[in-house]
Amino acid sequence: MQQKHKKIQQLIRPEIQQMQAYHVPASSGLVKLDAMENPFRWPEDMQKKWLELLSQVEPNRYPDPSAQKMVLALRECFKVEPQLGVLLGNGSDELIQLILMAMKAGSRVLAPAPSFVMYQQIAQALGMPFIGVPLAKDFELDVPAMLAAIKSHDPAVVFLAYPNNPTANLFNDEDLLAIIEASNGLVVIDEAYQPFAKKTFLNRVKDLPNVVVMRTVSKLGLAGLRLGFLVGDQALIEQLDKIRLPYNINVLTQVTARFAFEHIDVLDAQAEEICQQRELLLTSLNQFAQVQVFPSAANFILFALRNDSAARVFEALKAAGLLIKKMAPTAGLPENCLRVTVGLSEENQLFITQLGSILGPE
Ligand SMILES: *Cc1c(COP(=O)(O)O)cnc(C)c1O
Repeated sequence: MQQKHKKIQQLIRPEIQQMQAYHVPASSGLVKLDAMENPFRWPEDMQKKWLELLSQVEPNRYPDPSAQKMVLALRECFKVEPQLGVLLGNGSDELIQLILMAMKAGSRVLAPAPSFVMYQQIAQALGMPFIGVPLAKDFELDVPAMLAAIKSHDPAVVFLAYPNNPTANLFNDEDLLAIIEASNGLVVIDEAYQPFAKKTFLNRVKDLPNVVVMRTVSKLGLAGLRLGFLVGDQALIEQLDKIRLPYNINVLTQVTARFAFEHIDVLDAQAEEICQQRELLLTSLNQFAQVQVFPSAANFILFALRNDSAARVFEALKAAGLLIKKMAPTAGLPENCLRVTVGLSEENQLFITQLGSILGPE
């Protein structure tokens, strides 16, 4: 043990020794409203067609390294303009890693705080300094603070989640443009929740030379596939593509994603249903005087408890069979925040009923 410990000290970079692993809580037997998954299954006939396709897959062969057929369907489905390049990732998490791995030594990474934790996690794992700029009170970008930080740190990469996670809001477009204009580096617009926000920078990429748009199919309803894609200037995407591992998108994902893109109307209808459920859930949550509810353009809702502990309510919900997310105290967030994913109608109703009995009368 002592010997092993010595090896760790001797070999592993100190910033990695200091990192906390990304923790995914056990969810077996619980109603899962913690991870922004789409709760719907596919219609039976679609499921059947998909299984037929899967039965033709040859798992003994390597996948097509450039996933040509899938990319054609993807470009068509998301209307990616032909002059733009597409980089594929094993989830958008891997795209974040690819972007940062390609940057020159000493490059810095900047994002608002709080935002998606993987920006900081991956920067740290690669030994890149990370600068988090706290959001303004209403969760909008603190533009003067962002511009000052960009000026003093000159980050190689700025990440902006649009809508943001965990706050669920869409940043103001003018604020984004001010940051894009002030940045010498690359600005990554992370549109993981685009299916629920319906706003995008995809059609502006060709006019904004330092902007790339990152998308994932995870929140749309294909979290199990692990597929993300980055759209940007063809020449830039070609550089990043050199460090992508050749077979990062497996055969099952390629076949399934292509099939799903050809049936995008089914997924779009599910996203629409989730948006409607989100509005109902927002209305119900707003009826609790003890709860401060924040607006959402995503498939989840952030809320704060006015006079209660997030830990107590989280544990009580779990005891009642519901798993949501307890937010760690962090700069830019009020105390005692919880985040709930929009689920099926009956799941959301169960959540509201249980929350009501946990909070008790006002
Ligand atoms: C969930 C999420 C992702 C990660 O997506 P994967 O493709 O599943 O890796 C990226 N960005 C944001 C803001 C997210 O919330």
